[in-house]
Amino acid sequence: MTTVGILGGGQLARMLALSGAPLGLRFLVMDTEPDACAGQFAPLLVGDYRDERALAEFASRVDVATFDFENVPAESAQWLSERVPVFPNPRALAVIQDRLAEKTLFRKVGVPVPEFANVGSREELDAAVARIGTPCILKTRRLGYDGKGQFRIRPETGATADAAWDALGAQAQTVGLILEAFVPFDREVSVVAVRGRDGEFRTWPLTENWHVDGVLSASLAPAYANDALTATAFDHARRLAEELDYVGVFALELFCRDGVLLANELAPRVHNSGHWSFEGAETSQFQNHLRAVLGRPLGSTSMRGHACMLNWIGELPDADAVLRVAGAHWHDYGKSPRPGRKVGHATVRADSPTELAQSLQRIGAALGRQTQVAPVIARLSGA
Ligand code: AMP
Repeated sequence: MTTVGILGGGQLARMLALSGAPLGLRFLVMDTEPDACAGQFAPLLVGDYRDERALAEFASRVDVATFDFENVPAESAQWLSERVPVFPNPRALAVIQDRLAEKTLFRKVGVPVPEFANVGSREELDAAVARIGTPCILKTRRLGYDGKGQFRIRPETGATADAAWDALGAQAQTVGLILEAFVPFDREVSVVAVRGRDGEFRTWPLTENWHVDGVLSASLAPAYANDALTATAFDHARRLAEELDYVGVFALELFCRDGVLLANELAPRVHNSGHWSFEGAETSQFQNHLRAVLGRPLGSTSMRGHACMLNWIGELPDADAVLRVAGAHWHDYGKSPRPGRKVGHATVRADSPTELAQSLQRIGAALGRQTQVAPVIARLSGA
């Protein structure tokens, strides 16, 4: 009997546990919160990720360890890896946790990124703004996600460097700050990929993503992209995975402007933009992540037809209105509603773009969420 340990007990751990059940796997999830939603399906160890006693208990009860979020302290991942196999490896995690180290690595392996500069002081912010120009975005180097810990500098709207420093300056000496050029992208895409212990590398079809207030709202797979762009995106992902000796699933988020790709960030875990693969692909990102970390054969990442994922943020809409639609699948994460919180999603599958657009139209109308489905329908309709 193999037990997979997961640090972090949110919806990603929950979907990993659900997907691992057919493989006969057992799970142990560790989280700081006693009501972590993965605990509804797997034994939950409540503890602090820096507490060596809790980590030692976790290590003694699992055969392999992985993560459902990237901000597990790198030292804790390292400590664990001296006792039990940990995938992805702690070095990869440490690089990805720091936007500066991450972007520096992207450049090193030839993956283009927006202009960026480290910001350690108020003077450095002014120098960086002068060099990079406006608009630009000041971000925390560590611990930011879903658009949190970010300030967009647009002096003409009053969002000046002074305002950015008031908002984030205090964090320059704690988590660090980075200034990035603002990319006026046409679209955002992501590569969800998996690399096995033996180095085998596979990608799911390129996915297009729409964000609202920095949080993913909808994903469409396959993305409407030409073969050259898709091949470039996959090649970027492969080079990063090889450089990091990465094992497991990750997502590479990319901005696309005039046919050129610029990397935003890499998420070292199963990713929201790959949730559609649960029903939409031959093998989901969740099951392939487990297969990868266990050194088992990877499954096909191919898909039939088209899939769209809609995120439910804050609260769940009416499930039955979605379930009534052919090809629609419902995911309730078992979390209590809270503004801004990801509480569930739906995946809609169809054989043709027209059918998918029709199903999304029905869901948007039934839930009063036309604005959420509109950009996806526009893309499917060739707009
Ligand atoms: P992040 O937390 O870095 O993934 O940012 C969340 C979202 O903010 C991204 O998916 C983009 O929609 C937007 N964003 C972040 N960085 C930039 C940038 N340099 N230029 C334009 N939009 C950005």
